[in-house]
Formats: sequence, structure tokens, C-alpha cells
Amino acid sequence: DAKRAGSGLLRHFHPAMKESLRQRIGLESALREALDRQEFFLCYQPQVCADSGRTVGMEALLRWRHPEYGLIPPVHFIPLAEAGGQIGRIGAWVIDQACAQLAAWRQAGHAQLYVAVNISPVQLIDPGLEHVLLKAVAAHGIQPGELELEITESVLIEDPDRMVERFLALRELGFRLSIDDFGSGYSSLSYLRVLPVQAFKLDRSFVDGLCQDATSFEICASTIALARKLKLDVVAEGVETEEQAHRLRELGCPVFQGYLYSAPLEAEAAGLYLAQASGPALDAPIPPGLGP
Ligand code: C2E
Ligand code: MG
Ligand code: MG
Ligand code: MG
Repeated sequence: DAKRAGSGLLRHFHPAMKESLRQRIGLESALREALDRQEFFLCYQPQVCADSGRTVGMEALLRWRHPEYGLIPPVHFIPLAEAGGQIGRIGAWVIDQACAQLAAWRQAGHAQLYVAVNISPVQLIDPGLEHVLLKAVAAHGIQPGELELEITESVLIEDPDRMVERFLALRELGFRLSIDDFGSGYSSLSYLRVLPVQAFKLDRSFVDGLCQDATSFEICASTIALARKLKLDVVAEGVETEEQAHRLRELGCPVFQGYLYSAPLEAEAAGLYLAQASGPALDAPIPPGLGP
């Protein structure tokens, strides 16, 4: 059943295991209140066209600011929300917020732009997800094709057939689907024959090693080549240096995301970035560290 499959997946990424039980219990009860206390907010990180520097998309990244503990990174609280059963509600809030933000940017004149949200494996297996998504796009007057759902490759490890069905159901409704952290999930490439996805996100670990080790370089090269052969988009994650951007451009990677262009920015700063970057040249990228 849903709960069992979900908790199985959680074993692969559970950073909270390192923390003491007491701390965890504190965080868990704080997490149950966080949504009602409006402690969540979204940051947005630009995805830019490799050639023109134009922003083509914005990835929404969830932030939790606790009044005492401060800013808690998603790697710490998402697994807790998945295990504690709050991810559905929190994820629905993320989807609604991201759609509202895209609608606001549309109003401000940014016509060609999509917004991407991360979907947890636990959300993906919940058949209520379709309703949440359709409600959000309808409420804010955006098209399903303007919302990209980033789903990490590791969802395919357990019960891949069921996951493929979920991808198909979402694609049927017109949502854009991308495989997050592509290459890091130890899943079989054979699923590419049946997964209805529009994009890969080349995992940051490969971009990291791109200029230092030959293996990372070859993995980047072959992933980009594979995506292009399959007529899929590919976004390089974690682009931090000009040298990485240069090499990725030579390999034909069309879209970049990373600190070189911008850290994740709070909504207002992201709006300013969009306004700047839609000008003739992108000569003043916002330096890393400005976003939370
Ligand atoms: P992800 O989806 O792979 O997101 C990319 C992560 O890399 C983000 O971390 C981003 O801030 C970081 N990053 C971006 N550019 C660079 C760079 O140039 N260098 C480095 N070193 N890092 C960079 P963040 O925001 O801490 O999020 C971590 C993960 O948490 C995300 O990985 C995603 O899996 C998850 N997450 C974030 N928001 C949500 C959400 O709303 N729902 C769910 N289910 N998961 C979320
Ligand atoms: Mg992502
Ligand atoms: Mg990613
Ligand atoms: Mg990643």
C-alpha cells in the first residue's frame, strides 16, 4: 500500500537519522504547526538558456523559517514531513503558491516562462495529487504545460511499474515532467522507453566533477547526448563556474541552473532578476549568497 512503498523509498535519503531522537521529536511537532503558522516560503532559482541567458523557467524550492531554530534546510524537514504524513498538505501548498507566483509573473509580462516544483515520492503515489494540481492551475489561470513536476530518479527503484503509471496519469493531464538528479538514482535506463518525460536534470555531482575528472565529463557528455537524441530537454544542475558553463555549452546542454546565474531567491528578488534578465544582456548576475 501507499504508506509502505513511501517509507521504503525514504530509507535512501533520511538525514534526520543522524540527529538525536529528542531533536527529531522537537522538529516533528514544530513541523505539524509550521503550515498553519505560515513559517514556509518559497524561493525560486532561475533556469537559463545556455545561449541567450534568458530565463526559461524558475524552480520553486521550499524554505522553513522556524522562530527559534531559524532556517531549516529541506533535506532535514522533507523526510520528516514524508514520514509524518504532512507532505501531502505541504506539497499542495507549494503547488498552489508556485502557480500563484507564475500567474503574477505572467501579469508582469513574462510570457515565456514555466515554474518547476519538486514532487516527493510520497506525493507521487497519492492519487489525490491530480486533484491538487488541477485545482491549483485552474485557480490561477495557468496551463498544466506551464507547470513542471520534478521527480527524482530514485522513485523508480522500488515498484517502478507503479511509478510509470503515475507518470503517465500526470502526463495525460498535460503537466510537464522532468527527472530530477538524473544519473544518481541507480535506476535502469530501460524505463526511458516508457516514461513520458520532457526533460532530464543532470545531477549536480556530475557537473561538480566535470572539469576535474574524465568520468564525470563523460557522464555529462553522454547524458546530454542521450537527451538530445531522445528529443528531450536537459538542465544542468549546480553550474557554479564559467568553465563548467563553457564545457556544458560545448557539449550542447541547452539549459543551466546554478549559483553562476543565481542562488535561489525569495519571490520579490526573483521578480527583479526576471525583470533584469529579460533585458538585452545578462551582464549583472545576482551573486550567490543573496538568497537564503
Ligand atoms: P533539488 O531539487 O535537486 O534542488 C537543487 C538543490 O541544489 C537546491 O537545494 C538548490 O538550492 C541547490 N543548488 C542550486 N544551485 C546550486 C549550485 O550551484 N551549487 C550548489 N552546491 N547547490 C546548488 P535546496 O533548496 O536545499 O533543496 C534540496 C532538495 O530538497 C531539492 O533538491 C529537492 O529534492 C528538495 N526540495 C526542495 N524543495 C522541495 C519541495 O517543495 N518539495 C519537495 N518534495 N522537495 C523539495
Ligand atoms: Mg529539483
Ligand atoms: Mg535536482
Ligand atoms: Mg539535486
